[in-house]
Amino acid sequence: ARVLGIETSCDDTGAAVVDSDGNIVGNALHSQTSVSVALGGVLPRYARAIHQQHIKNVVKDALCQANIQVKDLDAIAVTVKPGLAPCLEVGLTHAKRLVEESRVPMIPIHHMEAHALTARMIEQIAFPFLVLLVSGGHCLLSVAKDIDDFLLLGTCLDSSPGEAFDKVARRLKLKNLPQCNGLSGGGMIELLARDGDIEAIPAPNVHSDQNASSFSFAGIKSQYLRYIEEEEIKQGIVASHVISNASDMCASFQYAVLKHLAKRLQRAFIYCDTFELLPEHNKTLVISGGVACNQFLRQGLQKVCDHYNSRLICPPPHLCTDNGIMIAWNGMEKLKAGRGFAEDPLTMRYTPKSPFGTDITAEVA
Ligand code: ATP
Ligand code: FE
Repeated sequence: ARVLGIETSCDDTGAAVVDSDGNIVGNALHSQTSVSVALGGVLPRYARAIHQQHIKNVVKDALCQANIQVKDLDAIAVTVKPGLAPCLEVGLTHAKRLVEESRVPMIPIHHMEAHALTARMIEQIAFPFLVLLVSGGHCLLSVAKDIDDFLLLGTCLDSSPGEAFDKVARRLKLKNLPQCNGLSGGGMIELLARDGDIEAIPAPNVHSDQNASSFSFAGIKSQYLRYIEEEEIKQGIVASHVISNASDMCASFQYAVLKHLAKRLQRAFIYCDTFELLPEHNKTLVISGGVACNQFLRQGLQKVCDHYNSRLICPPPHLCTDNGIMIAWNGMEKLKAGRGFAEDPLTMRYTPKSPFGTDITAEVA
């Protein structure tokens, strides 16, 4: 069987075709990351216009590579939630058009569930497993019990980790450095941090243990924004210049993020052990979402996993950020299970805000 996936929830126009074994037989992506970096964020109307410019060709390209016509597909999977309304609309409208002309079934997809299950395309991971999603809009810790059944253990109270990375990179003006050309804010910070000292500019403890299951990055973010401001004044920085100790700033910020993630992850492991939510001898943590591209964070979280006898699985970086492949694969998993089809695809709607799983965050705290 073959499923087409379409993704337009934020600033990437993605389409891909996967087969039942998880082979990617066609894949196309138009990314607006450099535009978003230049503008300092995603502007929904602007992003929508760029999606509209590219959606047709991106889909055509994926189908061409897969050497398949729309009518021969087994399903068309499309992101319908959560995301930016004007952007979701472009993908869904295009999917409807394809469904209308072909009568192929439509499978609506939850973007975060797709991030969470991408790893199953690459490795055999049996349910249940623990998932940490760290991305541009979310930070979610959950137990994946089935393709459409998640327990939400912890979520973000304020800024997402991706937003913190992007704001710090922007405040540091890293896009003016030649080596940062074409990278996302997070990618820039990871690159500079390699030459920095993680303990040079430590974050004071910004969060207490109240709300222990939830994430908060606003404190870390504003701390480092303040440090950068102070350094700029101290160093007499003007205009587009970058402070001399930007690498230390990046390394220390990244380390502060890691420490926060690690603490919450430890707590989740303890909770899962106590309530036997994960198989004792085959524990798995999956990390995904754009921020999971970060190798430093991966290495740090690997140590937490080692301590709790869990293996750690991260999809390769190009599958952690937004793409059509994860949508196609999520559609394929639903097709195989025989559920999740849109009953009336032509009246299907998108939902910009959408909960993730069964919320038990209050119990974990
Ligand atoms: P969501 O999935 O929550 O709707 P999104 O789809 O916009 O958000 P993703 O594409 O999953 O987000 O991730 C984009 C984010 O990942 C950006 O904030 C970017 O800075 C961050 N990111 C990318 N590479 C890295 C990296 N190496 N280190 C840290 N952050 C990174
Ligand atoms: Fe995403």
